[in-house]
Amino acid sequence: MLRGLMQERPLLISSLIEYAARNHGGTPIVSRLPDGSLHRYGYRELEQRAKRLANALLALGVKPGDRVATLAWNTHRHMELYYAVSGIGAVLHTVNPRLFPDQLEYICNHAEDRFLFFDLTFAPLVQKLRSRFTHLEGYIGLGDAAQVEKAGDMGGPVLSYEALLAAQSADYAWPIFDENTASSLCYTSGTTGNPKGVLYSHRSTVLHSFAVCAADGLGLSSRDSALVIVPLFHANAWGVPYAAAMCGAKLVLPGPMLDGASVCQLLTQEKVNFSMGVPTVWMNFFAHLDKHPGDRPPHLKRVVIGGSAVPPAMLDRFEKDLGISVLHLWGMTETSPLGTTSAPPFALAERSPDELRALKIKQGRVIYGVDMKIVDDENAELPHDGKAFGLLKVRGPWITRQYFKGEGGSILDEGDYFSTGDVATLDEHSYMQITDRAKDVIKSGGEWISSIELENAAVAFPGVHEAAVIGLPHPTWQERPLLIVVQKPGASVDKAALRAHLAQHVARWWLPDDITFVPELPHTATGKLSKLTLRKQFQGYVLPAAPSRDGAAS
Ligand code: AMP
Repeated sequence: MLRGLMQERPLLISSLIEYAARNHGGTPIVSRLPDGSLHRYGYRELEQRAKRLANALLALGVKPGDRVATLAWNTHRHMELYYAVSGIGAVLHTVNPRLFPDQLEYICNHAEDRFLFFDLTFAPLVQKLRSRFTHLEGYIGLGDAAQVEKAGDMGGPVLSYEALLAAQSADYAWPIFDENTASSLCYTSGTTGNPKGVLYSHRSTVLHSFAVCAADGLGLSSRDSALVIVPLFHANAWGVPYAAAMCGAKLVLPGPMLDGASVCQLLTQEKVNFSMGVPTVWMNFFAHLDKHPGDRPPHLKRVVIGGSAVPPAMLDRFEKDLGISVLHLWGMTETSPLGTTSAPPFALAERSPDELRALKIKQGRVIYGVDMKIVDDENAELPHDGKAFGLLKVRGPWITRQYFKGEGGSILDEGDYFSTGDVATLDEHSYMQITDRAKDVIKSGGEWISSIELENAAVAFPGVHEAAVIGLPHPTWQERPLLIVVQKPGASVDKAALRAHLAQHVARWWLPDDITFVPELPHTATGKLSKLTLRKQFQGYVLPAAPSRDGAAS
């Protein structure tokens, strides 16, 4: 084979911040800090502080490959850690503070984190867990010396982040090393067994950033002011912290304040035209707008919603009521996370509004870099007809090939495909639609009922704030669906009317055997409905005797 004669500059994360500092140095990064104040600087200063931090990490004794953990909100300091830790060849382990203490203990010990950088909001958590961490040698509070002092007893010494940076120079040259070097580590929520670590590389991260900036990816560009609602500890905030530097987008980081009022304030004040988050945060946004219609953000043009299915009612509120276009995204921690996005291609652009709406509700089209297929129980590939559904499998340069430390053993099939655990259809235009997580699908009389479809239909009913459907054991049908509903404040939903509404959207035998109301639904640490908790909560719940697969109950 004749070898090409192009330069072989490795794809390193440091090249992203270097580019942004040089070419978009003054483009703002605005952060809401935990005390509510706003911090503002540009990419040039971000890189300078990241270089000070790089020197500080080296002075602490951090070596290439060492894991450095963060327990932190979306702020400029967290961004500095993103670039400094990976930039010196160490591994940034972003820890989700919403996990249970036992899970936090497990993953920090499993990752063998040597240092923990944390927002002082988490001081009580640090104090509680400190004695249980087996490898942590140093704790650094994200604040100045006075703020660290004020945070009180944290069970041992805590260094001040600002003091560490102040003691170092910004004179540092990012080292060049192999692009396949590990750059960051993220544990999956792990609904079965222990959480598993996904170890990204510089190469996978830079390639994924191109996909985030591509027009058929998220289309992030230097023309955007982007509010990053998705946490920096959830699958690298969907790659946006890296991609924003690649294209020089303005970044707005909301810190811990994700309530509707704070989000609306930032959207307006920072002239945000692009934002991204899971459906739950947008539910809070709309709950706020219901009470304060004047807070409608005037500049917002596009939102990316992923992590869970976009309820059609939410799509309509954005697109029809506010004129804001929705891009549906599917992905996983294991896929960096970008897998599909829902922008309609030219050939479909002239379809009727109803057809386009139906396409937007699907999880999206497969993007370059992700090979995707659906298979049956025998691993035979299923047709792309939009009807056949099977296990969704993916492969590509930003898809994991193994969990950290080989956890879970071999995870690829003979064709190098990773099994996502999602059940989906693919249509002739390569639109993928998730019908369920493999373990959430309701198996009734040998056929499958999609809990997502039922939930989407339920939240479109007036008075329904949120809905979840789980399968309960049934003597005849194996499993039957139970619909669990949270009502909007002051609403009184009539069960029979809700059932009649569902009957217009799904087959009769899909209709839930019972509907029950709860004040709130459990969510996982990344804001998804926790079906596991719900199944435990409703263990032993008795469905009405009469109903059957005809859905005769009322
Ligand atoms: P995580 O790794 O925690 O982000 O979870 C990944 C899982 O979230 C996927 O395997 C899907 O089950 C689910 N998920 C992500 N995006 C979507 C979406 N747009 N619609 C439905 N489920 C989704």
